[in-house]
Amino acid sequence: MNINFTYLPGDGIGPEVGAAALRVLNATASAFGHTLEIEEHLLGGIAIDTVGTPMPAETLASAQKTQAILLGAVGGPKWDHLKGADRPELGGLLPLRKTLQLYANVRPAKPQSALLDASPIKAEYLEGVDFVIMRELTGGIYFGDKGRDALGAYDECRYSEAEIERIAIRAFEMAKTRRHKVTSVDKSNVLETSRLWREVVIRVAKDYPEVELEHTLVDAMAMHMLSRGKDFDVILTENMFGDILTDEAAMLCGSMGVIPSASLGEGKLGLYEPIHGSAPDIAGQGKANPIAMILSAAWMLRTSFDLVAEAEAIEAAVTLALDERQCTGDIGGTLSTLEVGEWIADHAGR
Ligand code: NAD
Repeated sequence: MNINFTYLPGDGIGPEVGAAALRVLNATASAFGHTLEIEEHLLGGIAIDTVGTPMPAETLASAQKTQAILLGAVGGPKWDHLKGADRPELGGLLPLRKTLQLYANVRPAKPQSALLDASPIKAEYLEGVDFVIMRELTGGIYFGDKGRDALGAYDECRYSEAEIERIAIRAFEMAKTRRHKVTSVDKSNVLETSRLWREVVIRVAKDYPEVELEHTLVDAMAMHMLSRGKDFDVILTENMFGDILTDEAAMLCGSMGVIPSASLGEGKLGLYEPIHGSAPDIAGQGKANPIAMILSAAWMLRTSFDLVAEAEAIEAAVTLALDERQCTGDIGGTLSTLEVGEWIADHAGR
């Protein structure tokens, strides 16, 4: 099979973890008799420096005709002085997600047993934790009208029923393939958008009698996730709450460097990226953990190309690397970014 995808390494550690992931993809593709066709493009700060805009037209055109996008990370202090849509994230990543209507962001939280001691949370709270966060990605406060006026500043939060309904359906569909439970997170004691969120989720739940539904306020959820994470299966939430809770969930897994994510729209199209940012503090030093990026690549193979055995080969090689401490310093290893990529490539390609 010809695996054709758009590759956007981006800024900071993006190109480093990307290079490691490409090693793994190359080894896996040749072991399984596939060819890779990679369209590499600029996005974010590197695009600003090279062509003067965070989202070059060729990048968007490539993303619009592809089936899958593998992205490193964008942003960094060099571009922090820029405003609004001139910034790498606001002008690059957010419009990419919005234009492609990638409204469902999925992030797993399943601590690897080799990393139980890498988390700041006691192992007894981590064992058995296995949930995914289904975050709405293209609506809410991040996309509302924002500005300044004589009194101060404002950010408007809006959700339509259709936006809530389609993400809720995705959460229930996912729960059907897992442990049949959806926990919907909102702030319905204060926010009108949350009251609508709850109404729509209850309505959607009627079509899924086999799935248990519970509602939790976001402030309580921040606590429950740490104290009883094993109670959750699919956590459904809106854009900003999801942004915050997913970083909290990362701490259950030991490091930002090991968690992949997928942003999905309708059909097979997906944007796959690690949950971490461009980590400017460690960029260029070979210290970045490439596992989140490698697992994002595996997820791309499974979801956009239906290559399940190939994805499983990569995931098994990652688990082995962790068990044998063939990893970077953030999780107790001594290897460089590329060395981890080579080790996993070697084992996934067998
Ligand atoms: P970050 O995720 O880049 O870094 C947070 C901390 O985690 C840092 O100490 C970093 O060294 C560490 N870290 C992150 N990834 C790691 C990895 N793979 N291996 C080892 N350690 C890792 O978050 P930040 O510092 O808040 O943001 C830095 C820049 O990234 C900012 O410009 C921000 O806007 C951008 N950002 C981009 C994305 C994205 O492209 N999706 C997401 C988040 C942040």
